Amino acid sequence: MKHISLLGATGSIGTQTLDVIRKHPNHFKLESMSVGKNIELAIEQVHEFTPKLLSVQSEEDYDKLIHEVPSSTRVVHGNDGLIEVATTEKSEILVNAVLGSVGLSPTLAAIQAGKTIAIANKETLVTAGHLVTEEAKRYNVSLLPVDSEHSAIFQALNGENIKEADRLILTASGGSFRDRSREDLVNVTVREALNHPNWSMGAKITIDSATMMNKGLEVIEARWLFDMPYEKIDVVLHKESIIHSMVEYIDGSVIAQLGTPDMRVPIQYALTYPKRLQSISHERLNLWELGALHFTKLDMDRFRCISFAYEAGKLGGTMPTVLNAANETAVAYFLENRLSFLEIEHVIEQALERHSLIKKPTLEEIIAVDAETRAFIHSTIK
Ligand code: NDP
Ligand code: MG
Repeated sequence: MKHISLLGATGSIGTQTLDVIRKHPNHFKLESMSVGKNIELAIEQVHEFTPKLLSVQSEEDYDKLIHEVPSSTRVVHGNDGLIEVATTEKSEILVNAVLGSVGLSPTLAAIQAGKTIAIANKETLVTAGHLVTEEAKRYNVSLLPVDSEHSAIFQALNGENIKEADRLILTASGGSFRDRSREDLVNVTVREALNHPNWSMGAKITIDSATMMNKGLEVIEARWLFDMPYEKIDVVLHKESIIHSMVEYIDGSVIAQLGTPDMRVPIQYALTYPKRLQSISHERLNLWELGALHFTKLDMDRFRCISFAYEAGKLGGTMPTVLNAANETAVAYFLENRLSFLEIEHVIEQALERHSLIKKPTLEEIIAVDAETRAFIHSTIK
């Protein structure tokens, strides 16, 4: 039996993690969970999974909720609440499925408490990959990828020597606007951007897929998870999302992982690794029904956010922190219809240009740069 803590239980990855736990009650027990503002769903989840600890985002919701859950579930709130969930004594694994760089402090706390980290929350690795990976090494803690591309690479590396891996090839579906030219992107709406062709995900990552910043964040995520230089991380457009990613070895062999686009597969693998369990879904990959898989070279001028991510990643230090904070803030404005689609990349570029790089930032410096960048975006938009 594995005891699990879950950050972001009410989200897309969070609810699918609970699907996996529900399917395998003899293997997994939810010890603690956090939610943001979706209190109604949180109450249902607590009644079903009976965790001993629940964290909510605001104090106001805490006051409301405390009488709605069984007394066997202790309720906490805010950032300290996230840390309490992440470090729950009985849990051996933390599934970090919270959205955004708010996941950084709880991740570091969980590592210091010796928990295995199943990481979906890519913003944490982008904003402070060096701190997270250094701490994981120091405390001898595993970082297990949940993101489908990174799970694919992780599986393609199983039993191999990472030193013999010559190139990581991330596949990208191209998001909602993959067939449109830049001119056609000027007036696109939030609704159109939220309509992803292959994956059903939370709103922020769906917009990131449309701008292709998601792939940029994933390149940085791959750099940290697999300690691979940016020169050896490539992206190829693959509209079917069947090959989830690949590793090319020095002898020219390429190992890929394939499957239907279903996040419950990589989530479950992170929970069962190094073993496997029966899949939750009966749907299996049917290659003859698919017929063909397609691959296209990436046009960096069309998808500028990917170039920003490579540049910020190569500069290192606080550059990826700025990239991430500017992107999180700009996407939130876009979702509120206060910024147009192409303005997202424009304000990110401005934030990157004005920033003075700190080469090896401390946690405090990362937190300060994240806050400054958000303030800059707020001021430009107002
Ligand atoms: P969602 O928006 O669906 O869910 C986010 C979760 O985080 C919700 O539980 C939300 O609470 C909670 N949350 C948001 N902001 C805060 C905050 N400030 N404090 C505390 N809790 C907060 O996102 P996804 O599940 O789509 O994505 C989660 C992470 O996983 C992201 O980093 C994303 O990039 C990554 N990921 C997602 C994939 C997917 O298929 N969805 C695939 C690969 C990676 P509430 O809803 O209650 O307000
Ligand atoms: Mg992904």
